Amino acid sequence: MDPAKRASVGARSEVPDDAQLEEQVNDWLRYGEDLGLGPFYRDRAPLHAIAESAAAPVATSSGISPAVPAAMAAAAASRAPATSINVAASALKKSSASIILPASAPSLFEAIERIAGDTLPRIREDIGDCTRCKLHKGRTKIVFGTGNPNADLMFVGEGPGRDEDLSGEPFVGRAGKLLTDMIKAMGLQREDVYIANVVKCRPPENRLPEKDEITTCSPYLMRQIDTIKPKVICTLGSCSAQTLLQTAQGISKLRGEWFDFRGTKLMPTYHPAYLLRNPAAKPEVWKDLQKVMAVLGLQPKKR
Ligand code: SF4
Repeated sequence: MDPAKRASVGARSEVPDDAQLEEQVNDWLRYGEDLGLGPFYRDRAPLHAIAESAAAPVATSSGISPAVPAAMAAAAASRAPATSINVAASALKKSSASIILPASAPSLFEAIERIAGDTLPRIREDIGDCTRCKLHKGRTKIVFGTGNPNADLMFVGEGPGRDEDLSGEPFVGRAGKLLTDMIKAMGLQREDVYIANVVKCRPPENRLPEKDEITTCSPYLMRQIDTIKPKVICTLGSCSAQTLLQTAQGISKLRGEWFDFRGTKLMPTYHPAYLLRNPAAKPEVWKDLQKVMAVLGLQPKKR
């Protein structure tokens, strides 16, 4: 292939007509053959994939359009240059019109749109006397969440227990008292923070919320987070960490590390109910809370 011609391949800025496109593809094919790339593309790209790539726009992680390799593969695979070049030229023409710039796929929660002007009362109103998932059957009261609507720190648990179900307030039983003590140890009062759960109704027998229940109810939590805009979210236990981070990792692996949740720092730690059963884990939780305090500029409560 003529070096001057090769240098010009891909350098044209104007939209080519069919003859130019065919010539351009032909140049690419010869260039690929010169580099010994023909077998590579022939082996890795079956013809049906080429047809699909021509028919549908594709975003690649590398940001490189598959159009040219697909075109090369079309010709190389059939070993019938004249016909293949037409097919390849057609593929290139279609694909070049539909190149999508690379974009990282949003997570499920990143994909949930923020609602402009949303407020906590409006979210509560939208929940209403909710029957959207099966948890409504056993509940006494919906436990929406409580605390400072402008809190810098938001705690997120998994779901209401018996005491919460009866009172309509999150974290009011023994685990709730321990959480209150943890908050005070951080130099705050309960009223300074916001406390909510992944699901708003009590799961039967205090079991963990199930996937369909979380999927149905967690958008309300997302709206609460978006509305409060805390500087730090501290998740309590595995369910809330796994839900917000969309991971199956256990809490013992997640706790103590900073994560990003839609631009907000997130610190997973153990659930207070776990600490009631395993008091030996309290120092680990205190370490996690100290990291939160450092970010928020909090001083521990003086004894
Ligand atoms: S858990 Fe959530 S989605 Fe399910 S019934 Fe209660 S408020 Fe509705």
